[in-house]
Amino acid sequence: MARVVVIGAGVVGLSTAVNIQRQSPACHVTIVAEDIIDGTTSVGAGAIFRPTADYLPGVDKERAMKWIRDGWDHFSSIALSAHAGPAGVAVTPSFMLSRTEIKDPLYKDVVFTFHELSKDEMRRLGFNQHFNFGYLVTTIVITTKIYLAWLLKGFQENGGKIEKKLVSDINEFQGRCDVLVNCSALGSRELFGDKNIYPNRGQLLRVKAPWINYSIYTDNDAYIIPNQDLVAVGGCREDKNSDKSINEMDSKGIIERCCKICPSLKGAEVSSTWVGLRPIRSPLRIEKEVIRDKATKLTVVHNYGHCSDGIALSWGTALEAASIVKGCLQSQSKL
Ligand SMILES: Cc1cc2nc3c(=O)[nH]c(=O)nc-3n(C[C@H](O)[C@H](O)[C@H](O)COP(=O)(O)OP(=O)(O)OC[C@H]3O[C@@H](n4cnc5c(N)ncnc54)[C@H](O)[C@@H]3O)c2cc1C
Repeated sequence: MARVVVIGAGVVGLSTAVNIQRQSPACHVTIVAEDIIDGTTSVGAGAIFRPTADYLPGVDKERAMKWIRDGWDHFSSIALSAHAGPAGVAVTPSFMLSRTEIKDPLYKDVVFTFHELSKDEMRRLGFNQHFNFGYLVTTIVITTKIYLAWLLKGFQENGGKIEKKLVSDINEFQGRCDVLVNCSALGSRELFGDKNIYPNRGQLLRVKAPWINYSIYTDNDAYIIPNQDLVAVGGCREDKNSDKSINEMDSKGIIERCCKICPSLKGAEVSSTWVGLRPIRSPLRIEKEVIRDKATKLTVVHNYGHCSDGIALSWGTALEAASIVKGCLQSQSKL
């Protein structure tokens, strides 16, 4: 039986593993990861579906649109089904606010609805004090903690195995698998010597505010995203900062900025604070690489560097990576 090992159990590793099982059913898939959901960047993200070109530098538009459309088909079909609750995927009205005009964002014709707010609507909602442009978008919000557990359950029910460990040398997979799939995000720097990937630090708080059932996303380091249980309130972006400790000044700034655009948040009890590191790479890398070492060779399929939109892009990129894996297995006559 063909054997595939996937390094990484964040949203990209889990989605890729599930899609390999679907596209190559005669294949045994094992996920090896230091962090299984808990401890990953994916588990703490907001997470709203609003992929933009800003976070897909160096990616051809047609390819990016395929990832976005495939991801939308996946998330929207869950959101409109009986799986929505157990998978943590919800249709959510969202206000996108900006100081400059948002011209044709990549998600515009993909999401359920996209309407520009009039000056009068901006004023009535109180957004005109801080922003010049606003859009009411019906999109999807993903409660990642629930979604990742749902993906993992499906993977294991389909015969997938999980191994929790830190990989320090990829040569340990020589002879152990036919294809090694790299979904280690920032781990690719050490494991594969990729100096093009670096962290972007983000911090967010989760507050108890069940009365907030819509998102607000701005271009000024402030966003409010209701999850199934708590509301995620962020944020900040710091390039090349890998400090995962909580910064109280960041928390204060986030609360101040978010309360200005959403005064009903004032006084909401903070349940937790979280720091995550976005894996930034230009461009996001999905490709096959054959690593040769003297008499041995290891076939690797990479899928990493999803920057700030990794939840939204996870399914579309996983479909592409899984099809490359299938091609590798077929060329080795393993399928
Ligand atoms: C504050 C914040 C808010 C965000 N909001 C959004 C949002 O609203 N919408 C959106 O689409 N995206 C959002 N993102 C971005 C998104 O979270 C990331 O792009 C995505 O989680 C990346 O997923 P990943 O699986 O590639 O990486 P990770 O989740 O970091 O997973 C990497 C995996 O690789 C494993 N690994 C790494 N190195 C090794 C090793 N040597 N050995 C074994 N295992 C290893 C890790 O243990 C882990 O399992 C946000 C990110 C942050 C920080």
